[in-house]
Amino acid sequence: MVGPVFFRTGPILYTIFFDFERGSTMLNKKSVDDINVKGKKVLVRCDFNVPLIDGKITDENRLIAALPTIQKLVKDGGKVILCSHLGKPKGEPKPELSLAPVAARLTDLLGQEVKFAKDDNVVGDNAKAAVAAMKEGDVILIENTRYRVEETKNTDNFSEELASLCDVFVNDAFGTAHRAHCSNVGVTKYVDTSVVGYLMQKEIDFLGNAVNNPERPFVAILGGSKVSSKISVIENLLDKVDTLIIGGGMAYTFMKALGEEVGKSLLEEDYLDYAKNMIDKAKEKGVNLLIPIDTVVGKDFAADTEFKTVGRGEIEADWEGMDIGEKTQKLYADAVKDAKTVVWNGPMGVFEFPNFAHGTNAVAKALSEINATTIIGGGDSAAAVNQLGYGDKMTHISTGGGASLEFLEGKELPGVVAANDK
Ligand code: AMP
Repeated sequence: MVGPVFFRTGPILYTIFFDFERGSTMLNKKSVDDINVKGKKVLVRCDFNVPLIDGKITDENRLIAALPTIQKLVKDGGKVILCSHLGKPKGEPKPELSLAPVAARLTDLLGQEVKFAKDDNVVGDNAKAAVAAMKEGDVILIENTRYRVEETKNTDNFSEELASLCDVFVNDAFGTAHRAHCSNVGVTKYVDTSVVGYLMQKEIDFLGNAVNNPERPFVAILGGSKVSSKISVIENLLDKVDTLIIGGGMAYTFMKALGEEVGKSLLEEDYLDYAKNMIDKAKEKGVNLLIPIDTVVGKDFAADTEFKTVGRGEIEADWEGMDIGEKTQKLYADAVKDAKTVVWNGPMGVFEFPNFAHGTNAVAKALSEINATTIIGGGDSAAAVNQLGYGDKMTHISTGGGASLEFLEGKELPGVVAANDK
């Protein structure tokens, strides 16, 4: 069944048409709009995995992204218990990875107290007492779920402890949706009502629609370091896109597969046949597969290394491909000009070094100028788009790097599947 889905981002109301039968295990989930939380204890799994330097949050986008769901639950009279992981404490309490700074910042952002229930065992005496004392509309935050070694193992005991805090569970953490952990999957075994939050819903709607029912022409841009980590994405997307653009370190394996020398560039010898197959498959399917026609090469892998631009097949033995060249930037900008849907995952070069960030910047700029649904996979491409100030020009920037990649691979995300169906 194909039906309309409506959702709002700021002042704009989007309507997209969704094929509900394809991939319906992920696309037809109950959300916070489908439940009544008045007076109920609502455990909300958020993604508060924010960068911290000396206890200060250096990028609060993930906190801001979580606000709509929290505000909705507060307004509806829920007793809102927030939880999240932060960093990799590897199953033990690490004070530098405490969520205390998040509670303080959320208090400012929400304009109401977010009480921090600090327990080294996460669901401890403080959390239990804080929950018992909650009134409708109150918000508390419990400690980093990865302080518990069971969290990433999805074991029953910690899942049940988390569930014991609540009547209703809301998963709004897209960033961990591709993992089955206690706080996003295990907990749902012990709670009758499990739904997705607004952020999760938005991710599912945009990524799901782009992959399964894109307005055409549909262009995918893939970059990043390795072909091996994007194999399933390439395969899945080759069945769906009109144009596939390849950049970043993985482009050199494609070049080599075409018989070109790539010098010291990143090369995955084991994937040469695979790259060749993909080139042939693209031809068979009538997909326009683009690889760089010029390359910025560096003497060494360093920010201040000597560099120059060379044409296709001209990378010399002691040089290394670091970025796409200017002609490629133009080729790729032209290739997206008439697109109606563009999905982008992975930088075009070693964008961490300013001399080799121009290709990534050019793609971000090109996407900001077109009249299309533009979806940026999380991780590096999302960071690049935000850093360059193009964030508000994109239709959707995913909050989950790994999760959005798995979505593009056509996989089911356990964190989404676990929510109740409509
Ligand atoms: P990924 O996590 O696979 O999306 O890869 C992102 C990383 O790819 C970034 O850290 C980039 O620096 C790196 N990258 C992009 N282009 C190149 C290149 N030409 N050579 C080496 N690394 C690259």
